[in-house]
Amino acid sequence: MTQEAHIELKPQSRPGHPGGHHGQMPGGARGAGFRPGGGPAAKAYEERTGIKAPRIIAWEITRSCNLACAHCRAAAHLEPYPGELSLDEIKATIDDICSITNPILILTGGEPLMRKDIFEIIDYAHAAGAMPVIGTNGTFIDDALAARIKEHGIPRVSVSLDFPDAERQDKFRGETGAFDAAIRGIKALQKAGVGVQVNSTITKQNMDLLDQLHDLAVDLGAEAFHIFMLVPTGRGEGMADLAMSPAESEQALTWAYQKQKHSPMHFKPTDSPQYYRIIRQQAKLDGIEVTPETYGMDALTRGCLGGITFVFISHVGDLQPCGYFNLQCGNVKEKPFSQIWTESKVFNDLRDYSKLEGKCGACGFKAVCGGCRARALEATGDYMAEEPCCDYLPPKYQAA
Ligand code: SF4
Ligand code: SF4
Repeated sequence: MTQEAHIELKPQSRPGHPGGHHGQMPGGARGAGFRPGGGPAAKAYEERTGIKAPRIIAWEITRSCNLACAHCRAAAHLEPYPGELSLDEIKATIDDICSITNPILILTGGEPLMRKDIFEIIDYAHAAGAMPVIGTNGTFIDDALAARIKEHGIPRVSVSLDFPDAERQDKFRGETGAFDAAIRGIKALQKAGVGVQVNSTITKQNMDLLDQLHDLAVDLGAEAFHIFMLVPTGRGEGMADLAMSPAESEQALTWAYQKQKHSPMHFKPTDSPQYYRIIRQQAKLDGIEVTPETYGMDALTRGCLGGITFVFISHVGDLQPCGYFNLQCGNVKEKPFSQIWTESKVFNDLRDYSKLEGKCGACGFKAVCGGCRARALEATGDYMAEEPCCDYLPPKYQAA
């Protein structure tokens, strides 16, 4: 999974955040009223099983890509990878998914726009009751493609920008012209009336450029700005040296909290569940209680949702809590998605916060944060172990 795999669509976010940010409405015909996982199938599933239905599914519909990004081991392979799900397998999986929920389906890759049947997949997902969105490197999108994306009812597309200038972005993305092409893509999407979210992978290399990246996203008219803290597993593993330390990560997330107060865009630091602890700590310093009235969806969501309301499907149909979590929990070619979601031991463990270990287990913020389970797995081999990239020491743990 690349950063393109995260895109957000929510009716309203942080409506009363101090500083006057009033959230945003997603674009697209069905955007305003769409509540992922809020339909009758999801309600019936939860009543029947006692398990929440997935609300957001990131689906790597191809691993093929036109770029060779530093953080992605799947890059620079133009042909379909062996075992990639066929259109029929994808449709059957969409049917099964929509028998238990009405999720946002983030179609990602690789580069999802390399899949020739992408619009058939999109139409099928809409007809089944899901909300498809696209996570892309943006470099393919011209006016004609942007118009097709709009025609096929895609409310928002996330585009990756990791550096605020061509030289450094092209180096990171492994392709001369990648920056200019992504900017062209963003402008074409906006011209066509499709909302844009800017995704930035943050490492030691660009952590000092956060303000510049933010300002570029504002200048480009983005609706949302998602910063991704590099998870040095899977596709990020070759970049472990560039991953921020716990203290640096704390600094970047505190920057996000402060910047959000005045930014016109909604932020969602991703793969950094500690943000939801930091919101509460900083809000306390600001003398504000974190409630849906003051912080919108940020008050309601949890940091790590892998296996809880979020799941990743790989290009060959493997289910994982997220793309960085290197454990396959079942394959849709062998078992229906709904059965894996219900029965997987890994997913069921992740849903039980009392199983968290180490300082995460002792942490008063575990219900809103939970720690990155992929980092814990990578560091210790135990996905319920404490998150290694958190600067917070819970008082209860200190006393233990
Ligand atoms: S384990 Fe959770 S926090 Fe970590 S990358 Fe996956 S979804 Fe994000
Ligand atoms: S100790 Fe674990 S649960 Fe608590 S804030 Fe840190 S990562 Fe989150």
